[in-house]
Amino acid sequence: MFGEAPAPLTCSARGCRTTAVWALRWNNPRLHPPERRKTWLACAEHREELERFLGTRGFLREVVSTDDLGEAAR
Ligand SMILES: [Zn+2]
Repeated sequence: MFGEAPAPLTCSARGCRTTAVWALRWNNPRLHPPERRKTWLACAEHREELERFLGTRGFLREVVSTDDLGEAAR
């Protein structure tokens, strides 16, 4: 890797400062156009909790590794 290192991605769970390894892409159809994606970041510990939160509301669209995100998550 050359040039500036990307800042670590921090888990979106409240109070968690752990580096995220998962990105949960979601969409609230009442607020967002269908193609819009919001991103929550999750560490290994919080993935399940955040996934369940979004899943029960029907918001979750996909879960990807933060390695696959590129700059889109910033
Ligand atoms: Zn976390």
